[in-house]
Amino acid sequence: MTNLRPNCLVGLDNGYSMFRDKPLGPKCMCDYLFNGFRWGELVVIRAKDLPNKPGVYVIRVIERGLNVESTISYLNDVLGRTKWYEFLRYVNSRLNRLRRIGDCPVIYIGSTSGLRGVGAKSSIRSRYVDLAGRRHTAFFPILALLLAGWRLDYGFKITNSHSEAKELEERLKKEYREIHGALPALVAR
Ligand SMILES: [Zn+2]
Repeated sequence: MTNLRPNCLVGLDNGYSMFRDKPLGPKCMCDYLFNGFRWGELVVIRAKDLPNKPGVYVIRVIERGLNVESTISYLNDVLGRTKWYEFLRYVNSRLNRLRRIGDCPVIYIGSTSGLRGVGAKSSIRSRYVDLAGRRHTAFFPILALLLAGWRLDYGFKITNSHSEAKELEERLKKEYREIHGALPALVAR
């Protein structure tokens, strides 16, 4: 089959035709920086369509919603109900960054080699999945419980090494399963 693609841009990777070659929303004088990027609306993207390859990614405003102060307090009102000190401290340090949004629609530039991206498995796809809220496997269930008024306890035990910790984890899970016939509710099965 002949490679006849009239709109093909130089240097564009093949196979990502479900993505636009131009962003939506207001133009900016920095737009030329992102020539050759592929674009899709954040909430519509499926991770499986993204390249499992290293790269750089950009988040850009298509259309503004509530003003920044209302945007911050809206989420704060809900999350504050957890009364979860470290979580709220972290969330607020990040929400504060919204106050820096100015006229430029580009609000984030990141790459697969950022702090959390270190490691052979980091890719455009895995970073997107991180962005979509994949954190600790128990994060959202715990968040839901706290928002719903549950009170939770947290315990821990120190070990001498990672391998020792892994052994202890495996042993405790095995014994737990022998007692209850299944792993604890929020553990991946
Ligand atoms: Zn700009």
